[in-house]
Amino acid sequence: MSESSEGAQPPPAVNPLGHGPVLLLTGARLVDGRVVDVRISGDRIQAVGTVGSLGPMPALPGQPSVTTGARIDLSGYLLLPAPAEPHGHYDSAFCAAPGADRADGPADLVRRVTEAALTSLGYGATAQRTHVRIGDAHGLGRLEAVLMARQALRGLAEVQAVAMPRLLTGLAGADGRAQLREALKLGADAAGGCPDLDPDPVGYIQVLLAAAADADCPIDLHTNAADQAQLARLVGALAPHRPRVLLGPCTALPAGGSTVLATAGMRVVCLPQNGACTGLEDPPAGLRPSLVRELAHARVALTAGGGGLRDASNPVGRADPLDTARLLAAGGGLSPESAYDAVSTQARAALGLPAVRVDAGFPAELLAVRGDTLDGALAGGHSRLVVHCGRVVSRTSAVREFADTVTLALPRQHTQG
Ligand SMILES: [Zn+2]
Repeated sequence: MSESSEGAQPPPAVNPLGHGPVLLLTGARLVDGRVVDVRISGDRIQAVGTVGSLGPMPALPGQPSVTTGARIDLSGYLLLPAPAEPHGHYDSAFCAAPGADRADGPADLVRRVTEAALTSLGYGATAQRTHVRIGDAHGLGRLEAVLMARQALRGLAEVQAVAMPRLLTGLAGADGRAQLREALKLGADAAGGCPDLDPDPVGYIQVLLAAAADADCPIDLHTNAADQAQLARLVGALAPHRPRVLLGPCTALPAGGSTVLATAGMRVVCLPQNGACTGLEDPPAGLRPSLVRELAHARVALTAGGGGLRDASNPVGRADPLDTARLLAAGGGLSPESAYDAVSTQARAALGLPAVRVDAGFPAELLAVRGDTLDGALAGGHSRLVVHCGRVVSRTSAVREFADTVTLALPRQHTQG
């Protein structure tokens, strides 16, 4: 990976330490093998120490509840910096039949967007970004629904909306230009869309740059430019805004495209569920390896997202960052550590959010997964506990049971990872 959280300094606290409720996570295993207690105060990690070293806390009777704080026993769990979802399409989620989402009323749309965000949150993504179509027949209705869901989800998950106009140049782009400005005024977090669909892709980017500069917001673009010169033109046009640009999914990246992206310092989000990891392990001469391998090899700043969540583009899409990381490792050739870095540290950086580490002073954005290794978590960590802003916001408990007729020496009941 081209960037690492090593050496990252804790960002300034939003809420000063010592304020807000205190939460103690005990007996959690870290990826380096240490077993620790973690004290959280307000929205920050206050201290990380050996088990029992952070002082007594009142134990809660019975199972710790999602809504109360105090002390939670995480023995048997691996504690990770929470992942993030950098690329969703929540306005079309759960609508696999083509056009099914068009029948939605505003309330249906808010409900589906909320359900998509909660699905992703249950998997551990405490920060999420979703692309929303604006203009044409959609007007700003979809964006308004996403912004309502974003508001309703405050305190559970941080959701960002990318306004996605279709055309931005010429006479045909007049509506898109006006709607984009309105969308950013309304509260869209980023300007996006797909310049490949506009007759003048560079002109599209110039309109976007001007609007993003006025609104002081980042740019998050779709491209599948399949020609190196075309990709170089797009990347060149984006240069003035570069530190705040995210580009993806680049599925049709031309040979040499990864070098263009790396040289320009572009940050790329790929979608492993949509084929970014296919490719041969040892491609014969002339055949390019998989997108992920190529981008990683060229040291492009790489993150990865879920993309379509059970929509027409991917009826079996999931919003699980651990599954995304699993695909990066299984098909993209990344180590489990690099794969998880892509969906956590790199994903948060792509969303413009401060870094997270399980260390004092860092934001309390955490994911606990049953198991003791990162490999195991990527292979199938089902039981999870999610902390956002210092609060337990979701808990999933998976239990596997075997029938009595099993004659092998298997346990009757076994808590599954
Ligand atoms: Zn997309």
